[in-house]
Amino acid sequence: MTTGGRPEVTAHVALGANLGDAARTLRDALECLDHTPGIRLVKASSLYRTAPVDASGPDYLNAVAEVATTLTAPGLLAALQAIENAAGRQRPYRNAPRTLDLDLLLYGSARIDSPRLTVPHPRMWQRAFVLVPLKEIAPEMVRDHEPGQFAGQVVERLPD
Ligand code: AMP
Repeated sequence: MTTGGRPEVTAHVALGANLGDAARTLRDALECLDHTPGIRLVKASSLYRTAPVDASGPDYLNAVAEVATTLTAPGLLAALQAIENAAGRQRPYRNAPRTLDLDLLLYGSARIDSPRLTVPHPRMWQRAFVLVPLKEIAPEMVRDHEPGQFAGQVVERLPD
């Protein structure tokens, strides 16, 4: 389907939060995504409770969304950053606890390696908190990456 001339591209976005009412923040972020011009929410995974990886603070809640977008990949990243900022995201130091973190995992089959954007997201294949929710909504993307390989990364699906 097309809107506004550009064909829609299927993209996958990882959502994470570990401060405040994280479940509420993630649900609001999904709604915000769907209301952003040029972005249509196609599917969202369940929410998952996960222990922080390379980071401090309370457990995270994570999810993955599939969107259809007419934005370019940098345009989609800018939209994700605007939603993070609206959620009050601050970056006092690397991997600090965050109200909302949105990462662009996949943008169609594009491979992008620019100073501001790397797609597929370079660390997604090591992160159970990304791959378990991604596998829930797009199992074909995760064929070669069995979540069983992530011994020690605790990922607990929350009831809907
Ligand atoms: P973070 O603080 O973890 O949200 O990292 C955001 C920074 O990573 C920004 O400066 C982005 O430009 C950069 N970045 C590179 N690739 C990606 C990606 N695939 N998704 C999100 N941010 C990215």
